[in-house]
Amino acid sequence: MAGGWAKDGAVSEQIEASISDELARMKSRRAPVGESLTHCADCDEEIPEARRVAIPGVKLCIDCQQERDGVQRQRGGINRRGSKDSQLK
Ligand SMILES: [Zn+2]
Repeated sequence: MAGGWAKDGAVSEQIEASISDELARMKSRRAPVGESLTHCADCDEEIPEARRVAIPGVKLCIDCQQERDGVQRQRGGINRRGSKDSQLK
């Protein structure tokens, strides 16, 4: 049977696959997903308690989660990341 792990070279594909994988698993198992992390697994930023409570087993801060989801939302008019041009570019 095929395992879930990709080769080392396919990191970004693996990340995307693991997210949808994880969602599918969460739905199918309906069991606790594990502990929420207090700090983002990606950037080590602190994850607000409200977020940890809202999303059991959360591993990423909002920024990293949105990046992985490919979501680009404006957050409260505060642009922490600087100009879009330097981002895109
Ligand atoms: Zn993060």
